[in-house]
Amino acid sequence: MITIQNLTKVFRTEEVETAALSGISLEIKKGDFLTIMGPSGCGKSTLLNIIGLLDSASGGSYKLLDQEMIGLKEKGRANVRKENIGFIFQNFNLIDELSVYDNIELPLIYNNVKAAERKQKVEAIAEKLHISHRLKHFPQQLSGGQQQRVAVARALVNDPKIILADEPTGNLDSKNGNEVMELLTDLHAKGATILMVTHSDYDASFSQRTIHMKDGVVFSEKFNQRNVDVFMDVK
Ligand code: ADP
Ligand code: MG
Repeated sequence: MITIQNLTKVFRTEEVETAALSGISLEIKKGDFLTIMGPSGCGKSTLLNIIGLLDSASGGSYKLLDQEMIGLKEKGRANVRKENIGFIFQNFNLIDELSVYDNIELPLIYNNVKAAERKQKVEAIAEKLHISHRLKHFPQQLSGGQQQRVAVARALVNDPKIILADEPTGNLDSKNGNEVMELLTDLHAKGATILMVTHSDYDASFSQRTIHMKDGVVFSEKFNQRNVDVFMDVK
């Protein structure tokens, strides 16, 4: 689904140049659940933002569904993004002025989905994530855990090809955090492709594979024991 080769990113301001990514190579297959870990500032969010087409790389190659993304202008990126990417953020990034319903509906509006189909899709995903009774509320009236469920609903409503989650449990207590992890694990079991940044070894243990980054490069990669066991059982 995703092939990244020697990806680089340099942030330039008038005074400084920061090499945020210094040659990342990575393969993500359909149905993978991959976590990225590493110290603050090592480039995790930068990598996720580039994969999610919220930002552009400085060099290298990034193929999404066999199509080269490097060199696409913002408009082209936005088109690929709205059809293929579901993004979940640490701070939920819900729009406070919009109801839960309207927040979840946004990606469908961006994709020119017709009104009747929008309603049906919003209601279906809300039911799946147990937030149907909250559709008329506003984000600030919800608990953190519920807000993140709304954010997950918004990320999923358009059936994205890949779900990107940047520290999705980072602002949640362990109970709500575990609920979000259960949700992601469940989605993965049903076939979703997920790439998640986390600081938590526990959260990472739900994924199949963990990549450790340091100073803008990948320095180790391991398959997670829990999942290796699961695969053994299946065999
Ligand atoms: P992480 O998510 O691993 O904490 P980031 O990807 O956010 O790390 O940041 C990687 C490096 O790039 C850091 O040195 C950070 O300061 C720098 N950086 C990130 N975004 C910007 C930006 N928009 N402008 C300038 N520097 C940035
Ligand atoms: Mg980050």
